[in-house]
Amino acid sequence: MSGDNLPPFAEGIFRSDGALTELVGSRCPTCGARHFPARAHCPDDMAETETVSLGASGTLYSATVVRTKPPFGLPAPYAVGYVDLDDHPLRIFMLLDPAHAEDFRIGMALDLRSGALGVGLDGEPCIRPYFTPALKD
Ligand SMILES: [Zn+2]
Repeated sequence: MSGDNLPPFAEGIFRSDGALTELVGSRCPTCGARHFPARAHCPDDMAETETVSLGASGTLYSATVVRTKPPFGLPAPYAVGYVDLDDHPLRIFMLLDPAHAEDFRIGMALDLRSGALGVGLDGEPCIRPYFTPALKD
């Protein structure tokens, strides 16, 4: 998927240089907790957080295929899931690659991608991050 000139679905949740996409979140300097999406203050101790990369890979904890009418111009069906990030102690809820909606299995390795997918809150096409099955080596 391309779409270099499209806006991101939301600011500050991922960055991409076209080839590599990484999630962006926050880390608390006091207790070390990570958050996604980023938070200005840690919910546990109210310390001011710092913005950190949360990496680009994870392991699928749980997934489901959604067959109701999709929101935001997503294809039907689409899949969502909880992903344990490889580089941080954090489980996040994310969109999974609609091109592989039926292929996700618990425990599988995932890589983050981004591309033109659906529309944003303004109804215009946008770039979205999503996890896809990791390429086997
Ligand atoms: Zn904290």
